[in-house]
Amino acid sequence: MKFVGAHVSASGGVYNSPINASLIGAKAFALFTKNQRQWNAKALDNETIDRWFKELEKSGIQSKHILPHNSYLINLGHPDSDAREKSLNSFIDEVQRCEILALDKLNFHPGSHLRKISEDECLDNIAECLNISLEKTSGVKLVIENTAGQGSNLGYKFEHLAYLIDKVEDKSRIGVCIDTCHMFTAGYDIRTKEAYDKTWAEFDKIVGREYLAGMHINDSKPELGSRVDRHDSLGAGQIGWDAFKFIMNDSRMDDIPLVLETIDENIWAQEIETLYSFIGK
Ligand SMILES: [Zn+2]
Ligand SMILES: [Zn+2]
Repeated sequence: MKFVGAHVSASGGVYNSPINASLIGAKAFALFTKNQRQWNAKALDNETIDRWFKELEKSGIQSKHILPHNSYLINLGHPDSDAREKSLNSFIDEVQRCEILALDKLNFHPGSHLRKISEDECLDNIAECLNISLEKTSGVKLVIENTAGQGSNLGYKFEHLAYLIDKVEDKSRIGVCIDTCHMFTAGYDIRTKEAYDKTWAEFDKIVGREYLAGMHINDSKPELGSRVDRHDSLGAGQIGWDAFKFIMNDSRMDDIPLVLETIDENIWAQEIETLYSFIGK
């Protein structure tokens, strides 16, 4: 079974996200558990937590189909150790927020070398932060998102994801989220059945299918391999509908959150409905 939704707003309180997800017919969703553009967040209070569980139950959405996204400020690969520590502390706080909300995954962008250190050094920094975070928390899988490779962001090659997984001690608590826009602009084609099969065969070989813990379902404004991160509505960009038909009929994407981050939230309900209509076609 497929569980499709969108990255919905949690504005006003995290409990608003299951409400917003239900309004668009979502069976999965993503959210920020704190303001994604600020370092500090106030702790989740009891009333907020109670309302979260109430609304979640009403929505009927299971926690395994929720994929919280971390703050954009965090850079676990930061070349400067003080700046990295600040990111690590904020990251651990986010994992703990997931623990409190009984969420079993946290989706994050690996990090950037800022052109000051090598790719491997940056990846080693990230892996070290992941191991520390795992030691200090429990029950939450850390889900590495592939990136478009814009600027000095790592995670645009399957090899980067595999490198991080390899260095993480507790493999039961590490996973990956594949963003179709990022995958495509990083140079992995999925537009034809042949290209789709080739890309996923490469993923299986280098990363391993067992690590796929979620997906971001986006079309792409920029071209294949452009290394530019710009999402588009489904069918409106360079990827086109076929790739999304393949995903909806690929049993390897069963039972994981499939989350839209497309640019026009007014058509999310329609996009979700269209995706479901592809099943069996
Ligand atoms: Zn992301
Ligand atoms: Zn994404």
